Amino acid sequence: MKIKKRYIFTHRAWVGFLLITCLIFTCSNKVKADPIDITIEENEKIIYLTFDDGPSVLTNKTLDILKEQNVKATFFLIGNQIADQKDVVKRIYDEGHAIGLHTFTHNYKRIYSSKENFISEMLKCQSEIYNITGIKPNIIRFPWGSHKKLNQNFLNLLHENNFRVYDWNASMSDGINCKTSANKLYMEATKTTITEQPIILLMHCDYMHKNTCKALPRVIEYYKKKGYEFKVITEGTPEHFYPIKVK
Ligand SMILES: [Zn+2]
Repeated sequence: MKIKKRYIFTHRAWVGFLLITCLIFTCSNKVKADPIDITIEENEKIIYLTFDDGPSVLTNKTLDILKEQNVKATFFLIGNQIADQKDVVKRIYDEGHAIGLHTFTHNYKRIYSSKENFISEMLKCQSEIYNITGIKPNIIRFPWGSHKKLNQNFLNLLHENNFRVYDWNASMSDGINCKTSANKLYMEATKTTITEQPIILLMHCDYMHKNTCKALPRVIEYYKKKGYEFKVITEGTPEHFYPIKVK
């Protein structure tokens, strides 16, 4: 009898313990869930549309689409293309888009031959933009991205030169193959909504990127429907680059 009573007591104690544990777990989850949900809602809904490799004739078409859709974007320009496309650069600036640096020559061997060459390429590009717009942008994008090129020392040097680095976390493959169909580009640009936030979407606006222009209105409409805010990259935007080696 004593054994049975002890068994019942132990059993009830276990059930009680489990109920209390469940209650604490549910409550603590509830307390945590609300602020997290709010944070995700606030942070998730920002997209930076970014275009590399302009200015070109097609950059104008890109600007037409952005105007129609009433959204702003960020253009990382190649310095040696600016002389032939001054009007386009002026238009980018006048219409309220952001301008960033994407080197002067976009020549892999030349720009990555030394840190000094890289910086001088950026400064030359900056000077071209300054001559047309009167502004000296210092947001930069590494051609082909900063992956395996940027380390802490290099980053410090860039910061000493007032540069701020922006890679991307979503992209169209138009930079790899400009003939990729507009539909595929659209799919690539919109499949990323569940990954890192805010979204920095890489696209291109050189003269051969017609399909990017074809895909762009649908991409913008997609993110509008999802409730995204379209922002431009400024010096105040937190830098974004691939993980770098500390040493
Ligand atoms: Zn590029």
